[in-house]
Amino acid sequence: MPNSLDLSTLSARLKLLKHPTFKQRYIYRNIAKATQAFLWANYKAKIASNPISAIYLVPLLILRKALYILESKAAPLHAKILSCPMPKIPTNAQKPMVWVFVKAILWAMLVLPCCVCKSLLCALLAPLSGIMRARIYARFLLGKVDMPYFELVLTTRCTLRCESCNNLMQYFDSKTAYTCTLSGIQSTLEALLERVDSIYWVRIIGGEPLLFKDIDTVVEILDSSSKVKSFDIVTNATIIPKPRLLEALQASSKCFVSISDYTKSPNLSVKLHIQKLQDLLSARKIPHSVLWQEATAAWFSPGQIYKRGRDRQGIEANFRSCLMPCVSVMSHEGIPKLIGGGNLLRIRLFG
Ligand code: SF4
Repeated sequence: MPNSLDLSTLSARLKLLKHPTFKQRYIYRNIAKATQAFLWANYKAKIASNPISAIYLVPLLILRKALYILESKAAPLHAKILSCPMPKIPTNAQKPMVWVFVKAILWAMLVLPCCVCKSLLCALLAPLSGIMRARIYARFLLGKVDMPYFELVLTTRCTLRCESCNNLMQYFDSKTAYTCTLSGIQSTLEALLERVDSIYWVRIIGGEPLLFKDIDTVVEILDSSSKVKSFDIVTNATIIPKPRLLEALQASSKCFVSISDYTKSPNLSVKLHIQKLQDLLSARKIPHSVLWQEATAAWFSPGQIYKRGRDRQGIEANFRSCLMPCVSVMSHEGIPKLIGGGNLLRIRLFG
C-alpha cells in the first residue's frame, strides 16, 4: 500500500485500482458498508415521513422483519436442539439412532425454513450488491471520496473496565483518560466531513459512550449530515439513556443502538440493564440489537497485550498492509498533554 495516494487524475485512479490492498480496503469495504447502511436504514421513519416516495422500501422492510423474527426465534431453538444431550439408553443401540433421526426432523422443520429465507434474502440482495459495487466504482472514478467506516471515540472512561478490553481502556487511568469536548468533536467532525463525500458507517464508541454528557448533540450532528449514511452507538447497558438522547435517537432515520451483552463476563460487578434498555428503545421504535446473546455464545478472552518491539516504520508497514484497518477519530482537545496531546486530528484518508 503506497504511503500517499494520488487521486487527482482518472489515470491515477485507474492505476490505484490495480493495487489489491487498496481495492480491498477502499472499494470492497465501501461496497460492504454502503450495503449495510442501506439495509440498516430506519425505513419505518422514511416511509412515515414520505410514504409515496418510499413505497419501494416496504417489501424490504417486510423481508427484513421476517428475517429478524426467524433469526431471533428459530436460531436459539435450533441451538437448544443441537445442544440437547443424548438420552442415556445404554442397553438398546437402536434408540440413540431414533433420537438422531428425531433431531434431524426437528432440524429440517426449524432450521430449513430459516436457511431458505436466508438464501432468498441473499438472492434478493445480490442485485443490490451489484448496484452498490457499480456505484462505488463509478464514484471513485469520478473522483469522489467515500469513507467506509470509522469509530468515533467519545471517551476512554468506562463503567466496566474489563480486564481484556479490546479497546485497551484498561490502560487508561485518571491522568491519561480521554474525554472529548463537544466543541472539539464538533470541529473534528466538520473537518472530516469537509474532506470526504460520504461516510457509510460511523460507530460511536468509548469506553462507554453514554458517559459523554453531550452524546445527544453528537447524534444530532451525525444525523443532520447528508454525508453520513448510517451510524450506531455501542453501549454496555450499564447506563440508562437520558430522555434527550432517546429523543435524538427517535428522531434519527439512520441510527441504530448496539447493546453489548456482558452477562457472561467473569468479573462482572456492575448491574446491567439490558432488558430495561431494550424496552425503552422498543417503546420509542428505535432500532437496536443485543450483540452476542445467542445461547451458544461464550466469553472469549483475547489474551494479554504485549510489545512486539516494532519500530515506527514497522508499525506503519503493518498498518498499511492490514486489510481491515481500524480508524478511530478523536478530538485533539480531549487528549491530555501527558500522552502526547496537541493536534491528534490526523485524518489521513485510506490510513
Ligand atoms: S465495556 Fe467495552 S469498552 Fe468498556 S472496558 Fe469493557 S470491553 Fe472495554
